[in-house]
Amino acid sequence: MPGVTAPVDPRSGWDLPAPGQLPRTADLEPLVTRVLAPNPSGMTLDGTNTYVVGAPGSGQAVVVDPGPADDAHLAAVEAALTARGARVAAVLVTHHHGDHAEAAAPWSQRFDAPVAAADTAVAGPRGRVLEPGEQLALAGTRIGVVATPGHTADHLAFRLESGAVLVGDHVLGRGTSVVTHPEGDVVAYLESLRRVHDLGPSALYCGHGPELTEDPIAVLEFYTAHRAYRETQLVAVLETGPHSVEEMVATVYAAVPRQLWPAAAQSTRATLAKLRAEGRVEELAGSFRLA
Ligand SMILES: [Zn+2]
Repeated sequence: MPGVTAPVDPRSGWDLPAPGQLPRTADLEPLVTRVLAPNPSGMTLDGTNTYVVGAPGSGQAVVVDPGPADDAHLAAVEAALTARGARVAAVLVTHHHGDHAEAAAPWSQRFDAPVAAADTAVAGPRGRVLEPGEQLALAGTRIGVVATPGHTADHLAFRLESGAVLVGDHVLGRGTSVVTHPEGDVVAYLESLRRVHDLGPSALYCGHGPELTEDPIAVLEFYTAHRAYRETQLVAVLETGPHSVEEMVATVYAAVPRQLWPAAAQSTRATLAKLRAEGRVEELAGSFRLA
C-alpha cells in the first residue's frame, strides 16, 4: 500500500526450523520440555505446543496448555513426564481456546491434578482460578502469572525462574497473532505486549511455532509495530471512502492466503473497535468511514 511501510520481522534473519520441521518432543532448557500436538493448521501453525515444566529431580511437573484431547498427544506428554521422572502437579492453561484447553479436564482427571486458568469454566469445579501477579510454587520452581489479555480476555502468560516466558497465543513463533473479535481487545493487547517486554524475557515459548530465543525483545517490538502498521493501513483505506470489513480485508491482507482472511477480519474488526472508541471512525449499516 503506498505511503505505508511494513515493519521488518526480525525473525526473517534467524535460523528457525521451517514449518512442519519442529521435533515432536524437545528439551528446551533444564526446566522445560516441549511436546508438539498433532493438530497443524493455518491457525495453529505446526500444531499446539504443550510445555512440561518442572525442576529436574523434583519428581513433579506442571503441564502448560495440554492442547487437543488426542491419544497420541497424551502418550507423547506421558513419555516426556516419564523421561523426567515426574508426576503432574497441575495443568495450567493460557486461555480458553480448544486447541489449548480441550484436554485440560480429561487430563486433570487422568493425572489427578487440578486445572489452573483465568477462566472459571476452564478451571472447572475442582480447579483454581489464577490471578495476575500470583507466584505459583509448583514442581520445585516458581511460576509467575502474567495477565496478557488481547488475543482473548482471559489470556495469561507464565514467567519461569529461568527468565523465559510461556506466551500462549499472545506471541507466535511465526507470523503474528490474531486479536479476536468481539472478545479480544487491541488496546489491552498492546498493553500486554508492553507488559511482557518489560519482564525482559530471556526466551518466548509460544503456543504455536518455534521457541524464540535469539532476541525476544525485538520480536515484541515488531509485534507492536505490526499492530500500528495494520491500523495505519486501515485508516489509509478509509481515506479513500467508506468500506465494509470484507473490502478492507481484501485490500490490507491481499498478500495473505485467503484461508486466513476470516482471522484477519477479526483483527480488522478489533482495530476498528479501537478506532471507534477513539472517535476516529464511524460505522453505518456495516460500512465504516472516518469520523
Ligand atoms: Zn492457539
